Amino acid sequence: MTTTARTVVIAQTGGPQVLHLMDRPVGDPGPGEVRIRHKACGLNYIDVYYRSGMYPLALPHGIGMEAAGVIEAVGDGVTHLKAGDRAAYASQPPGACTEARVMPAAQVCPLPDAIGFDEGAAMMLQGMTVEYLFHRTVPLKAGDTVLFHAAAGGVGLIACQWAKSEGITLIGTAGSDAKCQLALDHGAAHMINYASEDFPARVRELTGGRGVDVVMDSVGRDTFEGSLDCLRPLGMMITFGNASGPVPPVDLAGLARRGSLQITRPTLFTHIADHETCQAMAAHLCDKVASGAVKITIGQRFALADVAVAHRALEARQTTGSTILTL
Ligand code: NDP
Repeated sequence: MTTTARTVVIAQTGGPQVLHLMDRPVGDPGPGEVRIRHKACGLNYIDVYYRSGMYPLALPHGIGMEAAGVIEAVGDGVTHLKAGDRAAYASQPPGACTEARVMPAAQVCPLPDAIGFDEGAAMMLQGMTVEYLFHRTVPLKAGDTVLFHAAAGGVGLIACQWAKSEGITLIGTAGSDAKCQLALDHGAAHMINYASEDFPARVRELTGGRGVDVVMDSVGRDTFEGSLDCLRPLGMMITFGNASGPVPPVDLAGLARRGSLQITRPTLFTHIADHETCQAMAAHLCDKVASGAVKITIGQRFALADVAVAHRALEARQTTGSTILTL
């Protein structure tokens, strides 16, 4: 059976104006695949990187990395899902901003009844990112202190709550006092407005001069050097995004001078490449959300046809929490 689905496609890279809606055919799933009809799609900063050309893509190409919906059909060999199941996913390559698609089943995960489709669409990429940052990147334990940039964003508000639920002290940064308050309301222990305050100096003050155990930095170019100044000796720098631009080449000798610092540049897609690991990470996230320890805060909803407006808002730092595209 072949149907068509309204799908967001880019034929060239550039500003939000390159995003177009078109009808695309959707066929039957082959072996190891599922066809899923989406109820909502998530918007993430990585969509901006693909759209702008910072991350390469063979064009024309669909855009979007996550969605939630109902499984319509499964191909041979798919055992963890069946037609009629509620499901959600984050996956590469892009193409999730669509009404329906056929895709590999490995990264598609069951969505418990306790979690709505909107929350499912909003949480998979950002929530599994927080899962690996706090549990699979560096051994973190209750009592540790983390500096987390852009703490009022999509990944950020989940991180604030996750840290609190694990007994980890999260010092956050954000670009306005209102955003700082929002992150505090979501469990951040301290917030720094990095538009008006010297964040490394504030971090030293808040930690009694010691520095934090771990920095989680997705802002990139603008915060990278200052972030290194926030770490205690032997501390870990996790640089995981480039919202302000790519991080320049790293001066390795500088890591030694600052106290034998460690550094890593992880991506979610390495972690979820393995089916079992992906399903375990999703189940952990679903438990956190279903238990109420983490609430998925959807700050903005846009119709699929308004995807360009949504991209503009995200890039202009006008969004808070997660953003979804409704169908
Ligand atoms: P957010 O909702 O956090 O939006 C990005 C935020 O970054 C903005 O709201 C803004 O917050 C801050 N920011 C700082 N400088 C700039 C700038 N120059 N331009 C735009 N924004 C800026 O997005 P997401 O939650 O989707 O993603 C957060 C980050 O995490 C992104 O960098 C993303 O690429 C990264 N990421 C990485 C993953 C990985 O596995 N490596 C997976 C998922 C996300 P403020 O105004 O408070 O400064």
